[in-house]
Amino acid sequence: MMRITRRRGTIALFITLGAVMVGVALTLQGAWVVLNWRRVWPMAVGIPFFALLIAGLILNTIFLVREVRRNERHDSFLNAVTHELMTPITSIRLYLETLQRRSISEEQRREFYSIMLSDSDRLLATVEQVLKAGEVGQQAKNSARADVDMEALTAECLETTRQRYHLAPDALTLAVERSRLKMVVRGDAAELQTAILNVLDNAIKYSPNGVKICVKLSLEDDTWVFVRVSDTGLGIPSAHLKRIFKRFYRVPSRSHLQMKGTGLGLFLVRSIARQHGGDASASSAGEGKGTTLSLQLPRLLSAQRERAAEVSPTEQKA
Ligand code: ADP
Repeated sequence: MMRITRRRGTIALFITLGAVMVGVALTLQGAWVVLNWRRVWPMAVGIPFFALLIAGLILNTIFLVREVRRNERHDSFLNAVTHELMTPITSIRLYLETLQRRSISEEQRREFYSIMLSDSDRLLATVEQVLKAGEVGQQAKNSARADVDMEALTAECLETTRQRYHLAPDALTLAVERSRLKMVVRGDAAELQTAILNVLDNAIKYSPNGVKICVKLSLEDDTWVFVRVSDTGLGIPSAHLKRIFKRFYRVPSRSHLQMKGTGLGLFLVRSIARQHGGDASASSAGEGKGTTLSLQLPRLLSAQRERAAEVSPTEQKA
């Protein structure tokens, strides 16, 4: 908290300094214009020079404020990751020590093993997310592309999530808008699954007062496959709707920050969507009013066309 206040102070200082310098430059420009009113050359050189100086000052201030914000995000990411790694490690260690020191019943032993397993799953998930966020961009070229049936893939993700969080069937529902065309996307099935699972995980995590999630799958303009995940949870203030896709960004509200997380999930989601020629976006009516996360992916227009596009020039000549 102290650090955040200090950062806000630094940002305010940079903005004030920038504003004062721009004010001084404007006054100097005014004085210059008054002194050289009738002289062509000093005016022709002076005015662009001052304009450049003012633009430079403004850009410099914007750049400095951005850097301070970026540092802030890095710091909170490090804190979050450390916390995400430390909590399960401490828990596993505690259970191992208990197993080593005390004689416990078979039933308790089994319970300890299952807690340690879920802790190690949590550890693995954090490490995988950090690794994936680092790999994003390099993967685009070597990822395994195939025709992915989005309806089957989404249904599979829902089933995985239901099992993982022990959800009742009506807490997480799928609505598929019927269409004469199949919703097939050319891409990496594992990556697309990661994206949908991340969005579903968030919808559950940010619904602390009960999970009610509706996933809608639809086709628009015969070209775009949309996966929309709507929850009735904490919602997102409109000022943050675009920023949540930035690396390390977490909404700076108390209720959100209490939830575990690294700020990498949605960055990964958008990167994966973009690697597939699509995009991701969020909408929310405001805090406490739920969120809809949308994934937009290009539908594979025709299998034959795709195959023809893949024939190399040498093959075509032959
Ligand atoms: P995190 O690890 O913090 O969940 P994400 O990149 O997945 O990171 O999400 C970024 C931020 O967006 C979150 O910190 C949270 O504040 C907000 N957010 C994401 N999904 C939702 C949602 N379904 N409801 C409310 N807030 C959300």
